[in-house]
Amino acid sequence: MNPLQKRYVERSGLGQIAARVLAGARLDRQDGLTLCRHPDLLAVGALANHVREARHGNIAYYVVNQHINHTNVCVAGCKFCAFYRTARQPDAYVLSPQDVERRMLEHIDQPIREIHMVGGINPALPFSYYTDIIRTMKRVRPDVHVKAFTMVEIAAMAENFGMTVEQVLLGLKEAGLGSIPGGGAEILTDHAHQVLFKGKIDHRAWIEIAMTAHRLGLKSNATMMFGHVETLEERIDHMILLREAQDGTAGFMAFIPLAFHPENTRLAHLPKPSAAEELRMLAVGRLMLDNFPHIKAYWIMMTPRVAQAGLHFGADDLDGTVVTEEIYHRAGSTSPQMVSTRQLIDLIEEAGRVPVERDTLYNPVSQEIGRDPAGRRVPRARPPHEGTATDLGVSP
Ligand code: SF4
Repeated sequence: MNPLQKRYVERSGLGQIAARVLAGARLDRQDGLTLCRHPDLLAVGALANHVREARHGNIAYYVVNQHINHTNVCVAGCKFCAFYRTARQPDAYVLSPQDVERRMLEHIDQPIREIHMVGGINPALPFSYYTDIIRTMKRVRPDVHVKAFTMVEIAAMAENFGMTVEQVLLGLKEAGLGSIPGGGAEILTDHAHQVLFKGKIDHRAWIEIAMTAHRLGLKSNATMMFGHVETLEERIDHMILLREAQDGTAGFMAFIPLAFHPENTRLAHLPKPSAAEELRMLAVGRLMLDNFPHIKAYWIMMTPRVAQAGLHFGADDLDGTVVTEEIYHRAGSTSPQMVSTRQLIDLIEEAGRVPVERDTLYNPVSQEIGRDPAGRRVPRARPPHEGTATDLGVSP
């Protein structure tokens, strides 16, 4: 942080927190709440940006990926969800392994490195359905990384099939599972669980499954869905719970704050969190989660433009190209369902950052990381632009 920025942050009233951040000290619950309530968002952002640049220099990551939601049939009935259907509803669906193959083949000309797959809790599906789908994906694209099934889905598999969580995870891993997405965490408190999603696991189980996966060699992400019934205290408690789990396993890759999209849900009367609040949660996440390597500005939820701004509020990752995302679009997300590799690179460069393509585990691909004369991490060589994805445009 340059002296001008430091003075600005100190004058905003964040001097004590800034001193702790600059000393590398861990922030506590009260610090987190102060950051959530502080009137000067830019000062909070400047502090988070300092941490982000100390870790990642000027680099911002992206991945070329494809999202597939294998079923929207779900028995959990979360109040905030616009995606799920009961098995009898006319637009309920289950993708067969052949359907998944077809979807992958539609984009086989694109250099997709990751398949992200999540879906509903559908008790009609046998365990072999999940392993067959993973094997299909690895057959169609042997080099693709399969990041699939939330902690909630894994818990349901264990319960429905009379297996332990370890048996489920090892079975999926043996079929080719590479890592686990961060969904299903919502807000990791009893209050939010009781009010919003008591049909699925609580925070104790979510954390326990995540830590079990990490111990078995499966990395994961962690989300936080905010802006519904939770308090600011619950957001900070959520982050502290994740931080404590990470102290134990170091298995989380990225923290992904997700603003609640109320449209078409049973909470449609609630206002949607503002862009300023989304940026603040990126920044608070970056400052509180000192043991998380990455903070993701998930453009599919935030819109590309807000996510782009997030690269200066603590985020170092925009996620990926994303083909046919359904969960947030059912809840009124106005983002496109796909951006091309070229667009992601442009978004990052327009933000003044250096784009680096990564794999799911955040290994840079297509290039080596070097240092510029100022000692900042930069790519040694730019990758060829493979922007062959259909350009659906960036939403306003
Ligand atoms: S959020 Fe997930 S678990 Fe909850 S109802 Fe929707 S699909 Fe089901």
